[in-house]
Amino acid sequence: MNLRRKLTAIALIVLCIFTVTVPLVSVATATESEKELFIPPETSEPIGSETYPTVETEPSTTDPAPENPTDRLLVYLSKEDKTVEMSLEDYIVCVVAAEMPYTFHTEALKAQAVAARSYCLNKLGSGSHKDGADVCTDYSHCQSYVSQDELIARYGKTTTESIMTKVKNAVKETAGQIITWDGKPALAVFHSSSYKLTESSKNIWGGNVPYLSSVSTPESDRISTVTLTDSDIATLFASDSAVKVNSGGKKGIYITETDSGRADYICLSGLAVKAKLLRSQFGFKSTYFEFEEIDGGWRFTVHGYGHGVGMSQYGANEMAKNGATYDEILLHYYTGVIIESIAS
Ligand SMILES: [Zn+2]
Repeated sequence: MNLRRKLTAIALIVLCIFTVTVPLVSVATATESEKELFIPPETSEPIGSETYPTVETEPSTTDPAPENPTDRLLVYLSKEDKTVEMSLEDYIVCVVAAEMPYTFHTEALKAQAVAARSYCLNKLGSGSHKDGADVCTDYSHCQSYVSQDELIARYGKTTTESIMTKVKNAVKETAGQIITWDGKPALAVFHSSSYKLTESSKNIWGGNVPYLSSVSTPESDRISTVTLTDSDIATLFASDSAVKVNSGGKKGIYITETDSGRADYICLSGLAVKAKLLRSQFGFKSTYFEFEEIDGGWRFTVHGYGHGVGMSQYGANEMAKNGATYDEILLHYYTGVIIESIAS
């Protein structure tokens, strides 16, 4: 089937299913009105498993700073279905061990510890947990978490000792340190890797968080591929998320891009869907991709892993290997923040 006939066939399938009509202007309006409640950071690949966060509203930057939470943090252990009490620092050790490979440079691990601590304090009190817990260990809700016993079960005692030694050291050397914005703990989201530029939070979740803007990032390109069939494409554009747009005469599949070069919308035959739907629906590792037609479908070449907002973990590691300290890494990825110690 040639390209024109193929696109026509897909368009017909889509239009037969699709019933909602939204004017072009609604694309922009929808983007800016996306209010998302909870933005968990994304987990690193080697230990955690990444899922696109179920977000409900834009982050609040107006919550009061928490009073000294370092002595008592109630952690709901999601897998065990029980709540335990531990210090913030002990919790951060388990988060860093889960979120970043211990083989990363010490300065990257220290940056991760400060980011995880900041994120935790930013979200305290904003989410509800069983037993009145402050945080949980479900990576799709709060942050990834792994206990020492789980590490031993996965990697054995020797490797676990290496992990815990490095991670505990990174947490200890940054004990109590967080990044702040306007005097409050910053929403220090992070992701695995980007390609050339990180993404602005505005392009992913809407709202305006000044310190989560797009910046350069030095890691090498990490490529994955996804193949979608014509049926997949038809399903995508038949979803409730599709809106009608004026294609301006453009033929075939095309994308609109954000400032960082990621896909914002993917469009076909007068319909558009947010590119981030490709992540939740088809397992794309990021929304930074190119595509080409192949027999029976489309092949997407995807760059990086994660939403692209905030600190890139692989970028942090690369910066550290090139001599950057953890504070330089944090100040690079979180524009305009201040590194402070929490009150004790
Ligand atoms: Zn939670």
